[in-house]
Amino acid sequence: PVIYMSPQGQTLSESSVVDMTEYDGMIILCGRYEGIDERLLSQYVDMEISLGDYVLTGGELPAMVLMDSVIRRLPDIMGDDKSAEQDSFVDGLLDCPHYTKPHEFAGMAVPKVLLSGHHANIAKWRFSQQVERTQARRPDLWQAFTPTVEQAKWLK
Ligand code: SAM
Repeated sequence: PVIYMSPQGQTLSESSVVDMTEYDGMIILCGRYEGIDERLLSQYVDMEISLGDYVLTGGELPAMVLMDSVIRRLPDIMGDDKSAEQDSFVDGLLDCPHYTKPHEFAGMAVPKVLLSGHHANIAKWRFSQQVERTQARRPDLWQAFTPTVEQAKWLK
């Protein structure tokens, strides 16, 4: 498809990024100044995609953002294909907080449950953090969220 990066397009989302991984390729048009001649848009452009409700000088950075977001969802790009599935938006929620070494930093410890090795409790803790974050930061996402059967049990 021919895609025009435009503030007037549909806002880019993780689900549309995943849909785009099915294409063999894409042609991305980048505007400058007022944009691109309307006759070319109506004749050759299949979809218009926006990065959000703000205006940039040109479409080059939006095109790179689009390419990066699609490429990272292609097979064998990330070290572990599954890690992209744990990121924000994939299951409709924001991601949980992450920790690395050392166990204590600036007087703050890594939450004990993460060091317990108890996978079921870790999964539950991560989900509860996702819920808290999404409710606090993105009530729009929380409203639209449909839990899986297991998640519905955890919510109860
Ligand atoms: N006159 C246009 C309008 O108000 O809709 C804005 C043109 S903008 C200054 C120049 C180019 O930057 C656009 O043609 C588009 O390719 C790109 N661009 C600017 N903001 C964008 C956004 N939010 N998302 C995607 N592309 C954007």
